[in-house]
Amino acid sequence: MIGKDRSRRATIIQRAYRFLTEPRAIVIGGLLLAVTMLGLCTIVLYQGREDALERARETSSNLGLVVERDIERNFEIYDLSLQAVADGFNQADVRGLSRHLQREVLFDHSTTTAKYVGSMLVLDAAGNIVLDSANDVPRPGNFADRKYFTFQRDNPHAGLFISDPFRSRLRDGVPTIALSRRLSHPDGSFAGIALVGINLTYFRQLFAGLSLGPHGAISLIGRDGVMVMRQPYDPRVIGRNLSQASTFRRFTATADGSFLDTSAIDGTRRLYYFRNLPDLPLIVMVAQAESEIYAAWRRRAIRTGSLTAALGIGFSMLAYLLAAQLRRRMRAEAELEILARTDGLTGLSNRRTLGEILEQEWRRARRTRSIVSLLFVDIDRFKAYNDLYGHQAGDDALTTVAHCIGENIRRPSDSAARYGGEEFIVVLPDTPPSGAAQIAEKILNAVSDLGIEHTGSEFGRVTVSIGTASWTPDYDGDLAAMIRAADEALYQAKATGRNKVWPAPARASVRETIGGHSRDFAAS
Ligand code: GH3
Ligand code: MG
Ligand code: MG
Repeated sequence: MIGKDRSRRATIIQRAYRFLTEPRAIVIGGLLLAVTMLGLCTIVLYQGREDALERARETSSNLGLVVERDIERNFEIYDLSLQAVADGFNQADVRGLSRHLQREVLFDHSTTTAKYVGSMLVLDAAGNIVLDSANDVPRPGNFADRKYFTFQRDNPHAGLFISDPFRSRLRDGVPTIALSRRLSHPDGSFAGIALVGINLTYFRQLFAGLSLGPHGAISLIGRDGVMVMRQPYDPRVIGRNLSQASTFRRFTATADGSFLDTSAIDGTRRLYYFRNLPDLPLIVMVAQAESEIYAAWRRRAIRTGSLTAALGIGFSMLAYLLAAQLRRRMRAEAELEILARTDGLTGLSNRRTLGEILEQEWRRARRTRSIVSLLFVDIDRFKAYNDLYGHQAGDDALTTVAHCIGENIRRPSDSAARYGGEEFIVVLPDTPPSGAAQIAEKILNAVSDLGIEHTGSEFGRVTVSIGTASWTPDYDGDLAAMIRAADEALYQAKATGRNKVWPAPARASVRETIGGHSRDFAAS
């Protein structure tokens, strides 16, 4: 059992080795390696792409945060100033002060002198300016139509109101947004508003330093969808209402987030990051063009990808060439092997091969206790043929006879070989004397039927004589003795007139094996 297992394992190893050394295996191996290389490269590149997107998300989120912090800090200061005005304005002793002192007391100096603050005003319930941070004598003006006024008037608990961008009427149409707070009488009725106007230049300056590539954008949008500021700056989009845009609807769905979308305006695919400012009705939006996010990655991918592809192709080609070389060598070796095994003139097996075949069949016959038959074939009067027709014609006739012998053996296991000169041996495994005689007669007649003229022969044509022997190795002596017996039978064929088959006398064992069969033959 163990022996059987071991031999099975040995067979599997042998088969595997044979497969691995086959030219096809080299090609398959080479291709597999190339594909693996490409696969790994694809994975690495894909990861690189994901990383690029992740980095872009982080950049957007950081920019959003910077913008948010700056706006919240500033707006908080402005709101505190407005609250101070609202609180102070209600106090009777403040009202009793002169305009100049009221300005000093109510308006926070740091706010009114801040770079982007236009003006800080107090309007009465009718919308007229009653207190102006810029002047003791308020500039004439009524803003009862402005939303920052009407909203506070109509909503007692509005708190801080941030307006949409508008053009300041007090300051020659400078784009501005206003922050307003309601002033109430002690009974809660509407007394007017305090407001501070902030130049949009503040946002423009805030965004100016932020670089997002030629197709990127950063925007500040009111929660109602009105564009407050955008970088790159375009005055036409400031104040535009985007509330119907599909991207804007996504901005309001959650506090913050990011998504890839194709712009309806220019068809550019962008990564949008948005963030709703927690304490202000504003949304910061950062957009980066997908093409710019992946630009560096793409350059690297093209370089790495083409290098890997070239390497893969080179590798496959090398494997193919190697396999072709190996195939050529194997073919040459096989041809050499055949050449080494065949007789150059006749194309039959040569003497060396005959020796191997005989040994092998002898062993097999011993193992299976079967009969091997030998035919010893010799061309009659061939010396005379050479003398009459010349050596070249002799060679031709020899070749023709050899082919004829080869064509008249039946089974794949039968084989014919040139023993030497004009002598041939036919090996017929597992064939009794009757079968051997049959084949011998067939060859004899076939050669005669070739009708090769031979005036030096008593038959007028080229003929052969054949001695046969049929032995069972189990009982009989060695192989050499059997060949000798066939040779002796051939001698008898020659001696008794040529162009005939002569069987060697049957051995006792053969008689036992096949009964009277061979005796009949010996008698014939
Ligand atoms: P037999 O066998 O009938 O007794 O007469 P034989 O003339 O054939 O006698 P033998 O077998 O002694 O002669 C063999 C001759 O075959 C010798 C040689 O002239 C010829 N011969 C042997 N080998 C070759 C060969 O390769 N080519 C040619 N052309 N002739 C060969
Ligand atoms: Mg001869
Ligand atoms: Mg001879």
